[in-house]
Amino acid sequence: MKVLVAAPIHDKAMEVLKNAGFEVLYEEYPDEERLVELVKDVDAIIVRSKPKVTRKVIENAPKLKVIGRAGVGLDNIDLEAAKERGIKVVNSPGASSRSVAELVFGLLFAVARKITFADRKMREGVWAKKQCLGIELEGKTMGIIGFGRIGYQVAKIAKAFGMNLLLYDPKPNEERAREVGGKFVDLETLLRESDVVTLHVPLIEATYHMINEKRLKLMKKTAILINAARGPVVDTEALVKALEGGWIYGAGLDVYEEEPLPKDHPLTKLDNVVLTPHIGASTEEAQMRAGVQVAEQIVEILKG
Ligand code: NAD
Repeated sequence: MKVLVAAPIHDKAMEVLKNAGFEVLYEEYPDEERLVELVKDVDAIIVRSKPKVTRKVIENAPKLKVIGRAGVGLDNIDLEAAKERGIKVVNSPGASSRSVAELVFGLLFAVARKITFADRKMREGVWAKKQCLGIELEGKTMGIIGFGRIGYQVAKIAKAFGMNLLLYDPKPNEERAREVGGKFVDLETLLRESDVVTLHVPLIEATYHMINEKRLKLMKKTAILINAARGPVVDTEALVKALEGGWIYGAGLDVYEEEPLPKDHPLTKLDNVVLTPHIGASTEEAQMRAGVQVAEQIVEILKG
């Protein structure tokens, strides 16, 4: 059996494949033409968000039985073409949930206590103590929009910090909500009553620009917005207005409508926003889990 690993995956995942006795071929991010050459005699391919596994690639891989995506989204794989050929597609959706949830709190503390602002000032030689009056989290209300894998992890951490939890999800998981002491409410109530609003929804038609001007205006002036889901869930123009106009206290963002975030973007001019470059899943542990989970599924499928 031959497996093509077409994107960097964790060493432990490579070990899983080799220990199963597979021949492992490694080439980082080949383009379509090269991928067509490489897949001629492989039984499985592993990719990340790149490269694209197109219909042409699939049609040129007569032995292909499984495509593994180390991570969540499957938008770089032609699922229709795979289905037609009976090729299984596997991924590792929960592998990064805890890492994303921990980053949410990193962003939240950085905004609430102005940590990155203070750090920038320190480096300029400015002792900005008076400008750094912050907000405490204990006893405050966190509103979680999208109570799935990541939302649940966020809730567990929030509970440990003594926060109250409001939840909004069209498919409410009451058992998990009870476990973390959260209460499902409608979106408007969540936005009006939360001190922190954090987004954990998929990017679909219903969530595109879900946080718009009207909804930002419903939030408390002292509220913090965190987006570590997908950039287009928030209307960036409206958010810039909200941050400039003091409609909310601040925001922490890991994802953007345009990535990489263009240099000199209006967001980069604001002191009440903390920005990270889509690093939610960028931890040693998440990368290891993502690779290993996919490698193990491939072993299981190929070995029947
Ligand atoms: P999930 O599928 O487990 O949970 C999503 C939840 O959102 C579900 O419970 C679903 O019912 C709910 N939902 C769907 N439509 C909704 C709506 N209109 N309003 C409110 N809730 C709605 O997904 P997850 O693994 O928790 O991932 C959540 C988000 O995090 C996704 O957008 C994903 O792309 C993103 N993500 C970001 C990073 C990063 O690096 N920042 C890493 C992994 C995932």
